[in-house]
Amino acid sequence: MKLRPNFPSPSSPVESRLLAEYGSMFITKAAPPPKILFRNEAEVLAFQESLDTGQARVGTYQIELQYSAMLALETAVALAAANGISITARSADSGRRSFQDTLNLWLRNVGRGLDHWIELGRITAQGAQSIRELDFIQQVGVILDMEESQGIYFSTYFDRSILSSVAAPGASQHLSLLAFDVAEYQDEKAEAVLSSHGWYRTVVSDLPHFTYLGHSEDALPRLGLRLAVRKQNSRMYRFWIPDLI
Ligand SMILES: [Zn+2]
Repeated sequence: MKLRPNFPSPSSPVESRLLAEYGSMFITKAAPPPKILFRNEAEVLAFQESLDTGQARVGTYQIELQYSAMLALETAVALAAANGISITARSADSGRRSFQDTLNLWLRNVGRGLDHWIELGRITAQGAQSIRELDFIQQVGVILDMEESQGIYFSTYFDRSILSSVAAPGASQHLSLLAFDVAEYQDEKAEAVLSSHGWYRTVVSDLPHFTYLGHSEDALPRLGLRLAVRKQNSRMYRFWIPDLI
């Protein structure tokens, strides 16, 4: 019989979808978040402040992660450097993010998407305005539903789900200090060094985004993950995603 992983139970269709998208972090050897979706900044801060964290400069940017995640990353970076491979942070927000950071990123994509679909005549200005005025949890539900039922997408190029471009506010793995965005994400050697130190891609289509799981790769299936392989930009990329029933 297959072992069932210790994933949290979703309390809504939106949470089910978010668990499927970002849930791999719940099997981390570090500290997983206490819930699928943080509701506000206070909840995020309470969790972040309960963690042991580490900070380091990784390339140009200073980043902060959970302590064990940072230790594994620094070890990987040093080993990579000794072999002539570079692993650096992609941007200033490659590590820790606040709830407000994730809300801003989300609203940027939603705003651009609404403008785009108004221009194409698929939604009305009035309809768009009513979506802008929703609270974020309702807005996430409405956006995901429009994508699924009408093909009105909110990714950066409006061709796939918004979740492939930006996390739902309150659900990002960056809030849990378990994610790191890699500048050299197209370098297969960098990927191999990261994976051998417990860092894997876990969000399908988000190529620079790596998650600290801390386990060896051969342990991941029995912990409840499955391998998904996707071709993007004429290369195959590997993602370890929740193997949900
Ligand atoms: Zn990321």
